[in-house]
Amino acid sequence: MAHPDIVLQYAELRRSRRGGNWLWIIPKCSLCKERHMHGGGAASDDPRHLLSDRVPHCRNVPKDVKVWLIEDPEFHGLRLRHEEVMELAMAMHARWVRQLEERMAQCAAELRRRGVPVPDLEGISVI
Ligand SMILES: [Zn+2]
Repeated sequence: MAHPDIVLQYAELRRSRRGGNWLWIIPKCSLCKERHMHGGGAASDDPRHLLSDRVPHCRNVPKDVKVWLIEDPEFHGLRLRHEEVMELAMAMHARWVRQLEERMAQCAAELRRRGVPVPDLEGISVI
């Protein structure tokens, strides 16, 4: 049987009023246009462990899709085939690595400017 498609839903991190537990709020679901609330775990837990694959809270849940919570509004409502999710994750990882490498180069340049000896980072890979 084919895997269901995956619909990405942008969610914002909030604290619950009572107890300070984490909540993931979907301000406007791309499927039903409603606001949804998903648990994000206890205050002492990392709420990001509860991103990605979640049960949809839409009143009429489309049977052929799964919902993934994400933090990046850029991808809200994007519908992907099951195998495309890994491609997206790899693209996002590549972007993150590029940003990290740029930041490392900036830091090294700044340290050299201040006369701090810095090992040559050329050829050192983040991954
Ligand atoms: Zn919905």
